[in-house]
Amino acid sequence: MAVPFRRTSKKVKRQRRTHFKLQVPGMVKCSNCGEYKLAHRVCKECGSYKGSEVVSK
Ligand SMILES: [Zn+2]
Repeated sequence: MAVPFRRTSKKVKRQRRTHFKLQVPGMVKCSNCGEYKLAHRVCKECGSYKGSEVVSK
C-alpha cells in the first residue's frame, strides 16, 4: 500500500531493499576476449580462465 515516505522508517525501508538484487548474477567481462561471462567460471567464448586457456576451442 502506498504510504507517505516519511511514514516509512529507515529500518523498514532498508529491510525491504535487502531483497533488491541484481537480475543477472555475477556477469563480468572476460580478461582475454572481452565477452561477458559468469564470474569464477571458464569463459564460454575462448575457454580461458585466469589468463590461461584451460578448455580448447
Ligand atoms: Zn573469453
